[in-house]
Amino acid sequence: MTKAAVLYEANTPLAVKELTQDSPKAGEVRVRMDAAGVCASDIHVMHGTAVLPLPVVLGHEGAGTVEEVGAGVTRVKPGDRCIMSFVSNCGHCRSCRSGNPNLCDTNALTGALQYDGTARLHDGDADVYQMAKVGLFAETIVAPQQACQVIPDEVPMGVAALIGCSVTTGVGAVINNPASRAGMTVAVFGSGGVGLNVIQGARIAGASRIIAVDIFDHKLEFSYKFGATDVVNSRESDPVEAIRELTRGGVDMAFDAFGAAETTQNSVNALRKSGTAVIVGLAPVGDTADLDLIDLVRNQKTVVGSYYGSASPHETFDVLVDAYLKGKIDVDSLITRRYPLEQINEGFDALHAGEDGRGIIDFSL
Ligand SMILES: [Zn+2]
Ligand SMILES: [Zn+2]
Repeated sequence: MTKAAVLYEANTPLAVKELTQDSPKAGEVRVRMDAAGVCASDIHVMHGTAVLPLPVVLGHEGAGTVEEVGAGVTRVKPGDRCIMSFVSNCGHCRSCRSGNPNLCDTNALTGALQYDGTARLHDGDADVYQMAKVGLFAETIVAPQQACQVIPDEVPMGVAALIGCSVTTGVGAVINNPASRAGMTVAVFGSGGVGLNVIQGARIAGASRIIAVDIFDHKLEFSYKFGATDVVNSRESDPVEAIRELTRGGVDMAFDAFGAAETTQNSVNALRKSGTAVIVGLAPVGDTADLDLIDLVRNQKTVVGSYYGSASPHETFDVLVDAYLKGKIDVDSLITRRYPLEQINEGFDALHAGEDGRGIIDFSL
């Protein structure tokens, strides 16, 4: 048995309850969770703007300690402290083999079930799915061994949890993009968990100017801590005009860390000639954006998506753990709220209300 936060129906609160959990099968591990972040991608599923089979245990940003391993597990052993990857890449599909393990095809095909197509969690006779094969809002999880990336003892578990999604997604979108270069000017739309990490990614990449755009003054104020040099409240002024004015014509790179038609359009429109817009935030399913095609051609703009840091998440985890230990990135200040699993719905209310930084489920509470 394990205690987990279960979504039974969209637009209803998560129910924290005991579920039956199978032992790890071949190639799988049981991990005791230490910390899990409360992320907007979970909210999309809760609100029905992203679709997962139900009932499901959400949670895809977290860290835990390996407790038990199944047959044939060689990557990890009991006692290993790990960041959990929400893409347990298979290693042998076309995406994995062509250098895009973050886009693993087999992982996408099997979705919220394990690789053998079955579930490890059950509520009575009914199977319960695990978001991204992990479903980290549970005291223990059974998942593929390749979800685990071992970290040194000195990395706090809350920090490790955030590296599992928002830090890798945000910082990785900058440092793993070939258009990034020292001295560049950058605009970042959205100053939430991912946006703040795009900002600090731009800082460590040597950006000369980092313009944070949001609708909340308190979030913009908070963004200075991570490297924003200028802020624009897009409720008070047109962000594209403001960015053009601050940079004499537009930025080299713009990041949509929010994910919506308007922020994507603004990201492209805020670019200078030959600039690159990187779409990082996930828009609701089916959303489309209006882009001026002549502008793309004549001004030679690039629009590119970035998923899970644009590269191998595991490799990016290692880079970011090292950057954290050397004091180059600040993850501690991102964690502003801690909740026991029982109060997970309060954590989502705070995220939805636009509070600063990141809330985490702290399993020691
Ligand atoms: Zn996330
Ligand atoms: Zn694969």
